[in-house]
Amino acid sequence: MTHPDEALALVARQEVSILPEEPEAVPLSRALGRVLARDLPATVDQPPFDKSAMDGFAWGGTLSDSFRVLGTLAAGRVADHPLAPGDCVRIMTGAPLPPGADRVQRVEWTEEADGRVRFTRRESSDNVIRRGENQKSGDLLLGRRILRPADIGILASSGYESVPVQRRPVVGILSTGDELRTPGEPLVPGAIYDSNGPQLAAQAAAEGCEVRSYGRFPDLPVALETAVKAALSECDLVLLSGGVSMGDFDYVPEVLARNGVERIFHNLAMKPGKPTYLGRRENVFVLGLPGNPVSTFVNFEILAKAVLARLRGLPWEPAIASARLAEEVSRRDSERVEFLPARLSGGEIRALRYSGSSMLGVLAEANALLRLEIGQKILERGAQIDARLL
Ligand code: AMP
Ligand code: MG
Repeated sequence: MTHPDEALALVARQEVSILPEEPEAVPLSRALGRVLARDLPATVDQPPFDKSAMDGFAWGGTLSDSFRVLGTLAAGRVADHPLAPGDCVRIMTGAPLPPGADRVQRVEWTEEADGRVRFTRRESSDNVIRRGENQKSGDLLLGRRILRPADIGILASSGYESVPVQRRPVVGILSTGDELRTPGEPLVPGAIYDSNGPQLAAQAAAEGCEVRSYGRFPDLPVALETAVKAALSECDLVLLSGGVSMGDFDYVPEVLARNGVERIFHNLAMKPGKPTYLGRRENVFVLGLPGNPVSTFVNFEILAKAVLARLRGLPWEPAIASARLAEEVSRRDSERVEFLPARLSGGEIRALRYSGSSMLGVLAEANALLRLEIGQKILERGAQIDARLL
């Protein structure tokens, strides 16, 4: 059994061809969630001129009892002549400082009358944001990353209307099991609905992947073989659910081996997810996930996301939060690293009532996973622990 940390290290060490850049840049309005294909420089100084951080009065030279007010500078306007000592202009937040001014007195600390203004309190800073103070043109604006909403703003602030992005990973999804029916079909005795297929498709879509659903397959190698061949030639990552355990009808690893997939690991010291399989054929990765739905979900979180990061050439950094354990968590068997569905709220975390990896409904409440290490039987109430955010 491979330790899950070792499994992640194996993923991180894989030599891969990073997904290529798309031939055409995409408009900023469609770039959310895409991977920026290369580092981009800032194209302008931020701010592009010395600008006022306050509504107030811009002035320079030596402080006097009062200043003559020459007019008003709104954001977007530039002064037409320099300020002389003893003069000031009314200035709005974001307006460029006129030549001759080097500070701004906020309007709240002034009294204005008869074309003159008096300062009622002394400013401790100049209330000016200097040209290039936030960022210099030519400096790195954004490195390669999955673009989030703030990144879109950052790109726009440097005038990018479109950006180079990486091709989306193509993720193929196949569900195996004689017992499966597709939602919409009637359930016959002994059958269950295929929830893993739609769930994995949604997980992959939420990760910005292009999803190809190949459907569901009975537990017969010949039935799966054609679809596996197609998926291996069309996808970057193939996700199979079911059929990887030790049962009489668990033939997935065998079909993969016949199709040139080399095993990286099979069987993890992880709960849920013990029979999990990872292999690759050239640059195509294949994850065989145990069929129990919570297991499928957790394995996508823990492993598939790491494989996707590797294909994208990005470091894998799952979101972790530190929280206080609200109630003791204990278990009898501590042979594997265990992930438990949990709910984090207000700095406290508690494990959710959970009877095992077939209990999919628990995930509706879960927003985090608790982790128990090998040999660890108890997490004590009040302990400060790291939770993996979902
Ligand atoms: P397996 O990994 O094929 O041995 O399946 C383990 C358990 O997960 C069995 O109870 C299956 O019925 C169930 N299961 C397998 N595939 C799916 C699926 N696509 N959707 C929901 N449950 C599944
Ligand atoms: Mg099965």
